[in-house]
Amino acid sequence: MNQEIRLRLKHLVLFVSIIGFLFFYSLSSNRGCESDASRSEYGAESWAADQGREAFLPNRKGPTIYAVTPTYSRPVQKAELTRLSHVIRLVPNVFWVIVEDASQTSTLVTNVLKRSDLQARSVQLFAKTPTNFKLKGKDPNWLKPRGVEQRNTALKWIRDRLKQAAQNNADDESTHSVVYFMDDDNTYSTELFDEISKIETGKVGVWPVGLVGGLMVEKPVLNRDGLVLGFNSAWKPERPFPLDMAGFAISSDLLLDNPQAQFSYEVERGYQESEILRHLTIAHDMQPLANQCKDVLVWHTRTETPKLDAEKALQKGGKKSNDGMEV
Ligand code: UDP
Ligand code: MN
Repeated sequence: MNQEIRLRLKHLVLFVSIIGFLFFYSLSSNRGCESDASRSEYGAESWAADQGREAFLPNRKGPTIYAVTPTYSRPVQKAELTRLSHVIRLVPNVFWVIVEDASQTSTLVTNVLKRSDLQARSVQLFAKTPTNFKLKGKDPNWLKPRGVEQRNTALKWIRDRLKQAAQNNADDESTHSVVYFMDDDNTYSTELFDEISKIETGKVGVWPVGLVGGLMVEKPVLNRDGLVLGFNSAWKPERPFPLDMAGFAISSDLLLDNPQAQFSYEVERGYQESEILRHLTIAHDMQPLANQCKDVLVWHTRTETPKLDAEKALQKGGKKSNDGMEV
């Protein structure tokens, strides 16, 4: 009897051990499956994310794009430049030429460059608009040309730098670069810079610009062979080049070959683009980009001036909401 009980106990222990072993085995192998599954799922996710991100991956190999940004002090300045700096961060072949409309450079702009880690591929210049050409208080923005002094200062800086570079590596042919006028309030897709990178030596690239000139889109009109016939502009279509500053970029060799090409206070409103381009190209020779000018990759957005009535009231009492803060 005693022996019989011991035998049953032995069987029971063996049985429980086997069940236990099987239970833990299944648990551990389940976990294995789970981790495999989650790994592959994660893999799929990150792959999908990478595919999605592909459009935002910078073209590392392209020519240097000198992005020229005139900018002036106002409440929204830091917000505008922060937005731009984040686009430029994503496009490593952009070199940012910021020109402040001021009599010296500001710490606000220096701080934007520092925070975005763009100091190594940017330059901070200044060029004050002469007072007789500067907009005053309630002047409508179209009354006087904006950005003339700053863009010309940038052109001079770029020409000097390119000449210097050409002297330094006389037999290096890889000096192709492009100049783009990138106002601080527009909205730019990173994809635009992939298009600008395609501009060939001796060419001015063109593409559509959204929300400008009273239209949803202003764009070059191409003929059946894909050459630029003209533009669809509604505002002053009689201009030699009726397009916006954001809608073209210039191969820098053209700027070196045509040192007289620049902006001017002497021209009629809306003629700044024509003023520089007339020295460099004709419509037919322009290089259409952005999917045969069917894609919109830049928008001529304008930022509303913030209403700061409460701030002004505070200031009357010698106070400010941003005491010691850079906004
Ligand atoms: N700008 C400037 N000084 C001024 C007004 C404008 O440097 O007194 C700059 C501005 O920051 C922008 C460019 O010139 O980068 C074009 O100005 P804005 O965007 O006002 O012109 P619009 O959009 O009307 O063409
Ligand atoms: Mn603007």
